[in-house]
Amino acid sequence: MSMVEDYSKILILGCGSCVTICMAGGEEEARILASQLSLALRKNGKKVEIEEFMVLRQCDNEFLDDPSLIEKVRDVGIVVSMACGVGVQHACSFFNRVIDDRAIRVVPALNTTFMGANMDVGEWEERCLGCGDCVLEKTGGICPITRCAKSLLNGPCGGSSNGKCEISKDTDCAWHLILERLEALGELDRIKPVEMYKDWRPSHDGGPRKTVREDEKI
Ligand code: SF4
Ligand code: SF4
Repeated sequence: MSMVEDYSKILILGCGSCVTICMAGGEEEARILASQLSLALRKNGKKVEIEEFMVLRQCDNEFLDDPSLIEKVRDVGIVVSMACGVGVQHACSFFNRVIDDRAIRVVPALNTTFMGANMDVGEWEERCLGCGDCVLEKTGGICPITRCAKSLLNGPCGGSSNGKCEISKDTDCAWHLILERLEALGELDRIKPVEMYKDWRPSHDGGPRKTVREDEKI
């Protein structure tokens, strides 16, 4: 509410990919948010026009480059993006590039928490942190960066108890899982060498990424 209450024209921008699948920012959620905001703002005595629009992916210029969308963005005071944090930032920079007579305000409707896998209906678990230097070949396909609460490269720590992590009795100890998997694979030797340091340079610097890195080209 605090993000939008000063605006009389608002565009709710849903995203048709990941956030639709996880039922957080798709067409249905955009419709619900628009109606909730409209009711709440009117209750506070504000006159407001709220429109909704869907794009297939907000993280891709191809889908944002739609004249009817750009016209709507030009017309409103604020865009509420229901994409993940990537989509919000990408839509914001795209609109500010193509609309050059004023700055466009794009705000997030969601809190993006992780890259995960679908475990059951409406249930996801975090699996990758995008560290840029994958170690899964050494850890039996279980990520210690993401799934160990301390991101330990040499585990388990002293807090591991009965296969659970010290942070919660409901959370598996990732290193317990790793040891079990390596034992089943007959590959316990893989964790004998002590991992000294992780190379964090390829991770989270916000820089460009190519499908094939320059230094990997044959
Ligand atoms: S090691 Fe890095 S790239 Fe591989 S799954 Fe874990 S966080 Fe993702
Ligand atoms: S108990 Fe296991 S998962 Fe939890 S911090 Fe220690 S090694 Fe990591």
